[in-house]
Amino acid sequence: VSFGYEDIPATEKTARVGEVFAGVASRYDLMNDAMSGGMHRLWKDRFVARVKPQAHEQILDMAGGTGDIAFRLAKSGAAITVADINPAMLDVGMERAAERGFDGLVWTEANAEDLQFPDRFFDAYTIAFGIRNVTDIPKALREAHRVLRRGGRFYCLEFSTTTWPGFKDVYDAYSHKVVPKLGKLLANDEDSYRYLIESIRRFPDMPTFKGMIADAGFVQTKVEPLLGGLVAIHSGWKI
Ligand code: SAM
Repeated sequence: VSFGYEDIPATEKTARVGEVFAGVASRYDLMNDAMSGGMHRLWKDRFVARVKPQAHEQILDMAGGTGDIAFRLAKSGAAITVADINPAMLDVGMERAAERGFDGLVWTEANAEDLQFPDRFFDAYTIAFGIRNVTDIPKALREAHRVLRRGGRFYCLEFSTTTWPGFKDVYDAYSHKVVPKLGKLLANDEDSYRYLIESIRRFPDMPTFKGMIADAGFVQTKVEPLLGGLVAIHSGWKI
């Protein structure tokens, strides 16, 4: 199957991702609920439970978008910086923060590949459903490693490939037939949702991505599959 996104030059990918998320920002939360049947909330809860944020910590939520992870992290009292390449997503996030009374968060535009933060600044780095959109993933992982202090931790929540055979077929059918239709129906944007599904299909499998995290310098790298790996929590430590 070709979606027309097969051979995008690296330089264009970042721009394309920008268009996709600018287009969906205002309906992003509705779409997450619609497409995952509300399950993304449970995955995010599990993810933040694994991160175990502490009140005295500095945490960077990269590709933080509209703040779903940041708000969960902030409940611990940790200082949260939300960084995202797309100002439209951050705008929606800042509005939601104001509505919900989260006033201590820092919101900043940044490309995960090239961060403005100093070396060894953060205690933890989180990235949820963001890394697969990054053009140069190894570069982003090296930047994550750079901005973490020694003893700091890296946590990534991302779609992966489920290893449950029957479930994989159901998921493939769902993602290629249902998701673009939902995109059209709810956000009037079929193409963006085709792109999102395609980016999930192309993302490295769990062992490969775990290896990439180790290549960036992290140790004790781990992966926790959810639903057989449909979604996965990858983690590693900087020493
Ligand atoms: N983390 C949020 C969540 O779980 O709800 C948002 C996830 S959203 C699917 C992906 C986000 O990644 C978008 O807000 C997009 O702008 C951002 N993004 C894509 N490429 C990026 C990059 N190179 N640097 C920083 N953010 C990026």
